[in-house]
Amino acid sequence: MNEKIVRFLDMQQPATPCLVVDVDVIRQNYGALAENLPQAEIHYAVKANPAPQILSALVALGSHFDAASYAEVELCLAAGASPAQLSYGNTVKKQSDIAKASKQGIDLFCFDSKPELTKLAEAAPGARVMCRIMMDSGDAQWPLSQKFGCAPGMAIDLLTTAKDMGLHPYGISFHVGSQQINPQQWIAAIEQTASLFAAAADSGIPLKTINLGGGFPANYRDDVPDLARYGDVIMTAMAAQFGNSLPRIIIEPGRGISGDAGVIQSEVVLISRRNDDDEKRWVYLDVGKFGGLPETADELIQYRIRTPHDGGETGPVIIAGPTCDDLDILYKDAAYALPLALQTGDKIEFLSAGAYTSTYASIGFNGFPPLDEYYI
Ligand SMILES: *Cc1c(COP(=O)(O)O)cnc(C)c1O
Repeated sequence: MNEKIVRFLDMQQPATPCLVVDVDVIRQNYGALAENLPQAEIHYAVKANPAPQILSALVALGSHFDAASYAEVELCLAAGASPAQLSYGNTVKKQSDIAKASKQGIDLFCFDSKPELTKLAEAAPGARVMCRIMMDSGDAQWPLSQKFGCAPGMAIDLLTTAKDMGLHPYGISFHVGSQQINPQQWIAAIEQTASLFAAAADSGIPLKTINLGGGFPANYRDDVPDLARYGDVIMTAMAAQFGNSLPRIIIEPGRGISGDAGVIQSEVVLISRRNDDDEKRWVYLDVGKFGGLPETADELIQYRIRTPHDGGETGPVIIAGPTCDDLDILYKDAAYALPLALQTGDKIEFLSAGAYTSTYASIGFNGFPPLDEYYI
């Protein structure tokens, strides 16, 4: 575990549950992405963790940002980003929010339908717009394949409509699924996009930009390939499809920047058995699904857990949060084992919990407040 965070927890003994983020790791992760994908412009997906300390650290490094709401646009501007560094990537926006963003100078939007283009044409006339196409999430551990993106077969018609409406058809975007542990998943998406670029050019619409989305992984229980592998696979596919005339490339990492930077510390509230002869212990914590860990839904995201007794003999456990809701079981089937020495009052840590946690915490379900956050 991150030494700086260990020192902070030892010295400060903060109340639990809390999230502690090492902002240096944010900088390192940004640097590693920039190094492994030097041709790409990095738009940090703000929704992963919008803490001002993260945004301003990234502004200082020259990062761009992808905002999914007008409130996120404001957060980025407040952190010192210029409107030219922002994209508004959600394909579902209120027209009033588009108008507010446009007024602030935001000029890059995503869409995946005609009605959204109508809103954009009215509220942000002349803006650059990127068509999001639907993509298979394949091996992504947190799939994002259903809710957004048009069928690729619709894209040319939509881009033509955009042009007819006075918008600037600017490119194609997609997302291959979050925590995408298979870099090959980008290959088909890049091929698909290249054929759309060719078809668009034939229709008199020269596209300039490809947005490769997010999906770069954090380190949970399963090993993930090196970032270098992602860079290789992606740039090999880009070169194969586009040759020397590479379009502008945007990536939108969220988890890949903030995930590994944070640790959630939690206290063991109770260890019990449902039946005297059950082998499995129930371990109840002071953080759960409603306190910042909803990505444990269907046990999809499996955090690494650290305890004060690591190295000792372990036994199977079911891990649950503190609220009075059956939904608030974190891991039942994922075969977690924790030390037999674990006891009530022990502090345990969820590693790589810097993304999709703090802002997911409920405002007080069951009387439990949202996570305390520290950025160090
Ligand atoms: C959530 C999201 C991202 C970030 O995805 P990660 O897998 O966290 O990198 C990027 N782009 C869009 C459009 C998103 O919705």
